[in-house]
Amino acid sequence: MAPGQTNGHFSPEAITRILVVDDEPRLVSALASLLRNCGYEVTEANGGKHACELIDTRNFDFAMLDLRMPEVDGFAVMTHLGRRQPECGIIVVSGESSFAAVSRALRRGALDYIRKPFDPEELIATVKRVIGKQTLVKAHEDVQVRLEKSEALHRYIVNSSPDIVFMLDANGRFCFINSKVESMLGYMPDELCGRNFRYILDDRDVARGIYALNAPDISADNPRTLEVRLKTRGSQKATRHFEITAFPVDPQTWAHDQNNRGGGGGQNACYYGTARDVTERKEAEAFINFQAYHDLLTRLPNRALFKDRLELAITHARREQQTLAVMFLDLDRFKIINDTLGHAMGDRLLQAVTHRLESCLRKGDTLSRFGGDEFTLLLPSIRGPEDASQIARKLIKALKTPFLLGEHEVFVGVSIGIAIYPDAGDSMDQLIQNADIAMYHVKAKGKDSYSFFSESMSVDSTHRLHLERDLRLALDRNELRVFYQPQVCASTNQIVGLEALVRWQHPERGLLYPGDFLGLAEETKLISQLSEQVLDQACRDVGQWIRAGHQNLRLAVNLSPVEVEHPRFVETLMERVKACKFPPGNLEIEITENVIMNDLEQISLKLRELAGLGVRIAIDDFGTGYSSLNYLHRLPIHTLKIDQSFVQGIHSGVDDVCIVNAIIAMAHGLKLEIIAEGVETEKQLEYLRTLRCHQVQGFFYGPAQPATDISKLLVQTTACNAISS
Ligand code: C2E
Ligand code: CA
Ligand code: CA
Repeated sequence: MAPGQTNGHFSPEAITRILVVDDEPRLVSALASLLRNCGYEVTEANGGKHACELIDTRNFDFAMLDLRMPEVDGFAVMTHLGRRQPECGIIVVSGESSFAAVSRALRRGALDYIRKPFDPEELIATVKRVIGKQTLVKAHEDVQVRLEKSEALHRYIVNSSPDIVFMLDANGRFCFINSKVESMLGYMPDELCGRNFRYILDDRDVARGIYALNAPDISADNPRTLEVRLKTRGSQKATRHFEITAFPVDPQTWAHDQNNRGGGGGQNACYYGTARDVTERKEAEAFINFQAYHDLLTRLPNRALFKDRLELAITHARREQQTLAVMFLDLDRFKIINDTLGHAMGDRLLQAVTHRLESCLRKGDTLSRFGGDEFTLLLPSIRGPEDASQIARKLIKALKTPFLLGEHEVFVGVSIGIAIYPDAGDSMDQLIQNADIAMYHVKAKGKDSYSFFSESMSVDSTHRLHLERDLRLALDRNELRVFYQPQVCASTNQIVGLEALVRWQHPERGLLYPGDFLGLAEETKLISQLSEQVLDQACRDVGQWIRAGHQNLRLAVNLSPVEVEHPRFVETLMERVKACKFPPGNLEIEITENVIMNDLEQISLKLRELAGLGVRIAIDDFGTGYSSLNYLHRLPIHTLKIDQSFVQGIHSGVDDVCIVNAIIAMAHGLKLEIIAEGVETEKQLEYLRTLRCHQVQGFFYGPAQPATDISKLLVQTTACNAISS
């Protein structure tokens, strides 16, 4: 084996460089040529001083050193060499044979000792042995350093990985986990090693986690990926979402000695895996998903999710032969509140309404915001229509109490249309549409109630279109008529007032009553035009009778909420009255409690203004609206009109009598005038008289009649009175 290639540890180009030092030049050159013959690169130094100079300028692998030399001896050279080239090996070649000198040299780091005079063969053998040994040591050190560097590199890579990196043994216990687990979940790697991975797995995901690892076909080429929740350390029970990729460790590529080192070294590893924190992505996904299927204001499912659930529920109901209900809810008066109090208040109201509606529902029902102030409700399994009407009544009742928005107290009602599967349709679109149609029916009939869809309604919806067109024409062609119903003094039987009630002389369908077209007129905003015509006509008719001698004759007109809520309501009303030269003192307007409660502040301003101009104000249908009696003494009200339902109950129900008694007593106390509506019988009249009810109105005295009939009636009664007085 060539020197410089000992056991393959030296590369061929790394020829060993040897410095030969002696004070005897002959010996130096003899030794040098001996070594050169063996292939070493030799530098000769004559004496210690020369040697030190050479050491300063060139590098050597070995030095063959004489000990006893003048001036600078072998020990001094050793010291110099140790300082300048500590890696350089030293073999002492010396005539010195004292034990002390030799051991001193060996202590100072000499690798071997050859005595002069030397046997050339022995010397070469010693040199080769020493060089070989030294080369091995160096190679080992080299490997050690490289290993340490490589381990540091790998540790760095593993620990600064953005993911948790782990290894599990055959029983699923951690045998390695990188330090990332500390910053992500709060555990120290040491406390997890030896524990089963279930320890950090959220309970809900344990089954999936175990199944995934035991799957038959997983391998490094086909790793298992799954999403699980991992528990963070500590008591707060927080979890984070992780995407785990795991596969079995191949024993061929991971031939890690089992008895290698202490814990955490990954010995016994059966599985290798990474866990990536995907919590943020998950949360973003969840939010996007929520946004796509929910209304952000009320946090209710939106139209898309509702339809989805309805579709599912229909499939289920069909299979199980069950019934389900779809409700269409539309808030009454929401638009007015939104317009007057602003959108922020409108939003708050929608949230509050949602809250109340939700409190009426069972688990499994889906309430959704369909848009604006429209909601839909799915009751996925009901026994029959009665279940649905019970919920509808509950919903209506839930909205009855006023809502407090800042300092405003507002009232909203709700109109509900109900479509039952399969009677009202067997497809999603049909059910929603029919519930909507049923809801419109409720609106047209006076709101704040519920109604089931029936086939006749869908006919009505085309009919509605015709009616709307006809109504527009009616306004142009003056087909509206004003009828008058007398209001009679209970004690004198004298006509003291006339209530104007609108009729429509329809060219084909004959005389129509307000119930047939007023709802439509309100929805289509034709109501203001309608009212204008009625008021003009009534002012002209009654004005004429006033001028003809009935100076105290009162004209009562009904006003719709849409008109009263209009910002220019007072001006428009007074302009018309003036245009007809009608005395404002003879005019009484009838409004309902609900109109007042909708916006107490604005309405009270308007009513005060009107009262200031002499116009009288009556509360129509008193007792049927939201009874907040508080407003009665705060507003300039002159008359209460007891609703006909109470009057008609006078001889049938005890409760109604009590209400009539109470209303009349209260009106006396507040010094308000009373008109009892819907008086049909003598008995009712008698009873009202005993309670000292001032005025009555109803079929007992006659229905509303055209102006010509009233003219005659007025002439008759004046005549009667003239005779009796
Ligand atoms: P209302 O103001 O409560 O009018 C009384 C209603 O009861 C009238 O029905 C009248 O014909 C009816 N009635 C009168 N006496 C009796 C009775 O003894 N028994 C029974 N069962 N009913 C009686 P009508 O004319 O169909 O009016 C219905 C509603 O339409 C009115 O209720 C009023 O709120 C509204 N309305 C009528 N005309 C107008 C109008 O010109 N403008 C506005 N905005 N609403 C009107
Ligand atoms: Ca009325
Ligand atoms: Ca009434």
